[in-house]
Amino acid sequence: MRILVTGGAGYIGSHAVRFFLERGHQVWVYDNLCRGHHQAVPAECLIVGDLEEMARLDQAIIANRIEACVHFAGFAAVAESVREPAKYYRNNVVNTLHLLECLRHNGVKRFVFSSTAAVYGVPDRSPITEDAPLAPINPYGRSKLAVERILEDYTSAYQWGCAALRYFNAAGAHPDGTIGEDHNPETHLIPLVLQVALGLRREVEIFGTDYPTPDGTCIRDYVHVNDLAEAHLLVLEHLQPGQMLRYNLGIGRGYSVREVIETAKEVTGRTIAVKEAPRRPGDPPILVASADKIQKELGWRPRFDDLKKIIETAWNWQHARPRGFRS
Ligand code: UDP
Repeated sequence: MRILVTGGAGYIGSHAVRFFLERGHQVWVYDNLCRGHHQAVPAECLIVGDLEEMARLDQAIIANRIEACVHFAGFAAVAESVREPAKYYRNNVVNTLHLLECLRHNGVKRFVFSSTAAVYGVPDRSPITEDAPLAPINPYGRSKLAVERILEDYTSAYQWGCAALRYFNAAGAHPDGTIGEDHNPETHLIPLVLQVALGLRREVEIFGTDYPTPDGTCIRDYVHVNDLAEAHLLVLEHLQPGQMLRYNLGIGRGYSVREVIETAKEVTGRTIAVKEAPRRPGDPPILVASADKIQKELGWRPRFDDLKKIIETAWNWQHARPRGFRS
């Protein structure tokens, strides 16, 4: 397949690009590099461009005879979305509409979208199934849900085949240590914990120790980026015109913040200083996926099925490149 990957130089996108190439697909990455890294993708695949530049996007689609699009480009920091909602609606919704229109004008009807567990807000059940109420509690989650709604309409009006993949907590790095997570500023738990282990930070804050969970800290479902990458390809291969698929992606098992820190100590063999801090606004206590639907329908199984294996790959990357792609 000839696939356009927007945001392919970002964290999850770059792992997907690697996976698609290894499976023999032809890939073009469309990325403005505002948060992505050119080093994360082969130079010959990269088209540097913004989704606002519709002429450039059109050209990329036509010149490369694109057949399908996997759309990772977007902002994904909850706290930032609360402070700057306009930025999130513009980038995640308006720019996605630009992309959809360029694809539509050029007859491309296969589309896989990076959605998020944030569409569920504070869920009323655990594990979360795809039919749980959709009630996002921040602009980030609302921007992703808005795109899911747009895709439903494109599916029925224009006979597209679409999928929204609702990621839980993407984590880990390619086991070969050449690509991994590199955000600036870093806000995610696992890389922050590993930076403390490396001596790059003094301590990691635990946001909230009074949650209604066994050890009082938040529980999340961490899923390996390579497993996410594989899910995208499986889904792409199953898209049918006029059908929209929605799948949760997680390992179906939750770990508390304290368990993440303990596991990181075990993997790194280093001490990790912690500081208890107040809750971070907008964090639900427990987010654990039921990924039964994609397991049953498409046979997806996470290969990295426990936290230790996931953190080992993240450590392999952080240890080799303490300052990420700048190392
Ligand atoms: N977290 C924390 N300290 C940090 C960063 C995160 O305690 O410095 C907690 C956060 O409150 C959440 C979990 O770790 O419960 C995962 O947060 P992360 O930002 O990695 O992902 P999110 O769940 O926001 O997608």
